Amino acid sequence: MAAAAFLLPAGGLGAASRGLAAARPQTAIRSAFTPGLFAAARPMRAASSALMMATSTYKVVVLGGGNAAGYVAKSLVEASPDTSLCIVGREEVLPYERPALSKAFLFADPPARLPGFHTSVGGGGVRQDAAWYADAGVDVKLSTEVTGVDVTTKTLTTAAGDTVVAEDALIIATGAAPIALTKTPGWGLDGVYTLRENAEGLRLYDALQAAKGEPVVVVGGGYIGMEVAAAAATVGCQVKMIYPDKHMMPRLFTPEIASHYEKYYTDKGIELLYDGRLCEEILGDDEGKVRGVVMCKDGEKTEVAAKVVVVGVGARANTQLFDGAVEMEAGGIKVNGSLESSAAGVYAIGDVATFPLAMTGGMTRMEHVQNARETAAHAVASILGKSSGDYDYLPYFYSRVFDLGWKFYGRNEGTSVTVGNLKDGLASVWVDDGKAVGVFMEGGSDADTAAMVALARNCPAVDVGALKAATSAAELLAACA
Ligand SMILES: Cc1cc2nc3c(=O)[nH]c(=O)nc-3n(C[C@H](O)[C@H](O)[C@H](O)COP(=O)(O)OP(=O)(O)OC[C@H]3O[C@@H](n4cnc5c(N)ncnc54)[C@H](O)[C@@H]3O)c2cc1C
Repeated sequence: MAAAAFLLPAGGLGAASRGLAAARPQTAIRSAFTPGLFAAARPMRAASSALMMATSTYKVVVLGGGNAAGYVAKSLVEASPDTSLCIVGREEVLPYERPALSKAFLFADPPARLPGFHTSVGGGGVRQDAAWYADAGVDVKLSTEVTGVDVTTKTLTTAAGDTVVAEDALIIATGAAPIALTKTPGWGLDGVYTLRENAEGLRLYDALQAAKGEPVVVVGGGYIGMEVAAAAATVGCQVKMIYPDKHMMPRLFTPEIASHYEKYYTDKGIELLYDGRLCEEILGDDEGKVRGVVMCKDGEKTEVAAKVVVVGVGARANTQLFDGAVEMEAGGIKVNGSLESSAAGVYAIGDVATFPLAMTGGMTRMEHVQNARETAAHAVASILGKSSGDYDYLPYFYSRVFDLGWKFYGRNEGTSVTVGNLKDGLASVWVDDGKAVGVFMEGGSDADTAAMVALARNCPAVDVGALKAATSAAELLAACA
């Protein structure tokens, strides 16, 4: 079914169409029904004056309609179906598994498209499409920008002037936004892309299709840079990656791990321009379209041609609405082990939350989908009084590029031992204070994944000499058992 069939209006879908008296929010109609396609589905609001604002009240309200929000709906509907829930989000589509955007969404034929990857398919749950939300009685206000928040009364104000009140709990799930190179000349040119939301993904897909056989520059050598470069090369673009680090994915990969992927990328025809190289300027033609970038290293400038420039240089948590209203830490909203912020009844989950990592005691913020899923479930349990303790997250990262796919569990601290190669299996184990604390593996079976989880959870004492003697990824894992 076409994605357009699932576009919901800013007025939302769910409460008005579900007929669940117990779960129905109290809607004080003071306002206009927000313009949209679903006027017929919202007769109460449609009947109101076009000049008035609406106030809706729910037990639980989620601000942000992304990955984590979808898992809040899943958990709350499973655990307490009569608790009224509203999700308010800026995007025009229902919550989805965001990692899809830089993978089969960009290169597959046919490409992955909504509604195929709505939450919670990535976490092994059902696909929560429009019918699911309607059946569950969850109100989702799409295309709705929240412009103000009162954390004391747990009230959201939308750009249209409507208010949404959370009686019991407000969950902040605003995620993060790509860092924009606004100070780089040429940033606003036609042909410069970032990738975070479905609409951006659709635009980038079209741009890559139109750039088959033509030069594409990807700025950044992290997650997004690696995945987008691989997708663009698969589409048939001539890809160059520009990043200042000595290796790809420096936050996680050791130089040894990175070198395997770097060779794979260059074998696929991707040119790597790295080690101190920065994109200093984006160049445009007379029509305002991108024609290249100026790359700089040690003061030496080089022009690199590009029909498309994709910038993936990291993200910042969307905390702006809460400046001064709740405590912040490490660039995110500080929460406790229940995921509750410094404002009572206000929770933060997913990319925007800085939470205590139980295994180390330190505060951390994680921009990874598994954390979005698990914080959502934990916040719901906390709100319902069903949590069995503090949030206890095992850091887990994964990525897929070309026909490769890696996973990492635990902490990448201490020294590391790497064994194998991309074809036969590549694995690394990090050893800190005599204990295995983190493990990376390219490929691997379900049994390997179970072994990786056990290792990262149990942190067994290991003999580095024995690890170094391993001749394969399987032997390396076995030496940690
Ligand atoms: C292209 C891409 C690929 C990724 N790949 C991987 C991967 O392979 N593995 C992995 O572990 N992680 C990956 N991630 C990270 C993962 O997607 C995020 O960790 C996850 O989406 C976080 O969920 P979230 O709900 O916190 O934020 P999001 O999913 O970003 O949702 C936040 C939502 O809030 C909305 N919002 C923000 N402010 C407002 C406002 N004021 N009013 C209304 N709505 C608002 C946004 O529009 C957005 O819809 C990827 C991310 C991207 C962008």
